[in-house]
Amino acid sequence: MRLAASALAGAMGLLILAGGSTALAQSDEDIRIAEQLRDRALEGSGAFEIVEELTTRFGPRPAGSASEQAAARWGAEMLTGMGFANVQVESFPLKLWERGETRVEIVSPFPQALVATALGGTVSTPPGGIEAEAVIFETYQDLLDQPEGSLTGKIVVVLQDTVPAQDGRGYGTSSPIRGQGPFEAAQRGAVGYVLRSLGTHDHRFAHTGATRVGEGQIPAFAISPPDADQLRRASRLTDAPIRMRLVSGAGFVADSHSQNVVAEVVGSEFPDQVIVIGGHLDSWDLGTGAIDDGAGIAITTAALKLIEDLPVQPRRTIRVVWWGSEEVSQPPPAQGLAGGRFYAERRAGELEMHVAASESDFGAGRIYSLALPAGAGDSDLRRAAMRVLTPLGILFDGAPATGGGPDTTPLVQGGVPPFRLNQDGMDYFDTHHTADDVLDRIDPGNLDQNVAAWAAFLWLLANSDVDFRALRPAQ
Ligand code: ZN
Ligand code: ZN
Repeated sequence: MRLAASALAGAMGLLILAGGSTALAQSDEDIRIAEQLRDRALEGSGAFEIVEELTTRFGPRPAGSASEQAAARWGAEMLTGMGFANVQVESFPLKLWERGETRVEIVSPFPQALVATALGGTVSTPPGGIEAEAVIFETYQDLLDQPEGSLTGKIVVVLQDTVPAQDGRGYGTSSPIRGQGPFEAAQRGAVGYVLRSLGTHDHRFAHTGATRVGEGQIPAFAISPPDADQLRRASRLTDAPIRMRLVSGAGFVADSHSQNVVAEVVGSEFPDQVIVIGGHLDSWDLGTGAIDDGAGIAITTAALKLIEDLPVQPRRTIRVVWWGSEEVSQPPPAQGLAGGRFYAERRAGELEMHVAASESDFGAGRIYSLALPAGAGDSDLRRAAMRVLTPLGILFDGAPATGGGPDTTPLVQGGVPPFRLNQDGMDYFDTHHTADDVLDRIDPGNLDQNVAAWAAFLWLLANSDVDFRALRPAQ
């Protein structure tokens, strides 16, 4: 696993950066320390123990719930106990959404209950529910092709499947079916909305997830993949209309608050230059939020702890954030990412000093590639990073990172360069946002590989002089 020291000869020296400034290249010493961090993580990084305790103590952590708040207090205590500096809990207001009762059934001609979940942020039905004829579409585009008013009084069903992909592009393609679909159906006159869960499996559980919140909402649900197949078969078996009943008790129930938990290892030379990493603490209510996103919290915290334990400090500050409220939508004009937006707005004057940002929020699979900001592909940092990461089975991604994970979106929009340690997501959407998102889905060895990559890369980045903004290609 360890690279020969001779292979590193010549890595140190002076380098002229594209921006014209003179900077010290990544030193042999930095590479040696990054390798040590990597190898130490592989021996047992401590990440699994963090997600184990988090999910066991608090179970599900819906945004704005007492459980999320208690987990944040516990986290702040734990981060302080780990020796991190400037530990803060930063609260912001949030409307608390609760699921309440959910029922989806075929009323006729083949009466039966289906396995379903309400979409996050959706609304309630009248008591007793909504009963109407179902109009079933194989694809989302089929729905979009319907003229306005053509679905008046109907329940819209979209059966489109989600394709598994290492980088999650299948989910990226199908996510508008959940986020925007209920609005598109309502605009055409529908009174209810049902989609095939955005899941890449054929088991009988349903996937929740946020849908757009606002005026004109109709009750919206996801059914399990086998139940979507069942509806298709039912519709092919008869010319009679399929009538369905939808029952939802969901809604925004109270004014509450969520919070970001922040902790740092302060830089020795450039304490004002900040690298931001982290995950989100909130989860959906169905599982215990182990892969989404207890794993991301655990990976980034364990990586920073390994750096904190070193006898030397990094030159730049590294800050870990446990963002609150990533999952839920909020009534307009707010919509999503309340925690990420609050973090960025609170530091609007400091974003220039944010060197880079990245969130771990793609489950607990192994990392397979590193993506750097545009223009950094030929940097000394890239060469140093790939020396240390290649033995972990990690490739350099030729495509620049355009985002750093959901909660970094407001930062990236504010000009902060993103990087990505991309995780294999082939099976992430099998259990994402379901009752099966529990600790048992996590392989501790895979978490250690993640921590190894994060710790090693963070050390190199924090000790590098790289200025991603200066490397940005001219538009
Ligand atoms: Zn997430
Ligand atoms: Zn999620």
